[in-house]
Amino acid sequence: MPTFVYMTNCDGCGECVDICPSDIMHIDPTYRRAYNIEPNFCWECYSCVKACPQNAIDVRGYSDFAPLGHSVRVLRDEEKSTISWRLRFRDGREKSFVSPIRTTPWGSIKSASDYAAPSPEALSSQELAHEPDGLNIDRLPALSPDQLKQGVV
Ligand code: SF4
Ligand code: SF4
Repeated sequence: MPTFVYMTNCDGCGECVDICPSDIMHIDPTYRRAYNIEPNFCWECYSCVKACPQNAIDVRGYSDFAPLGHSVRVLRDEEKSTISWRLRFRDGREKSFVSPIRTTPWGSIKSASDYAAPSPEALSSQELAHEPDGLNIDRLPALSPDQLKQGVV
């Protein structure tokens, strides 16, 4: 279910633009409000929904999620660290769901700029940035060479 922006609620702060992993939240140059430039490429991660300080972003429901037609309102509660969904069906029924946003405290995840710059040798490493430390493990799990042909006749 891709997202869309209520332009009358948006103040153009750009939080959704910064957080969108698909780079599809853009600020309209004329109206200075955010919009989803390519809903087909939306990951449906809802990072933008959770990040929007104005609660200006909602989702378009698919028929399996809301078969009667509906409105879907998504709201985050930073204090409770929850995200709530309220569906209002065409026949007037409503359904509500509340989920925890994340398992780590709000604001506790360091941004990339909080880490030291990688060394030039990191370019030839198989590990991604901040691995394995960022995963809180000593090393990534990997098969040893003698395990590679197990099961091969
Ligand atoms: Fe981008 Fe995720 Fe929002 Fe889709 S749901 S617009 S991918 S941040
Ligand atoms: Fe608008 Fe919300 Fe995006 Fe800020 S985060 S630009 S208020 S939609």
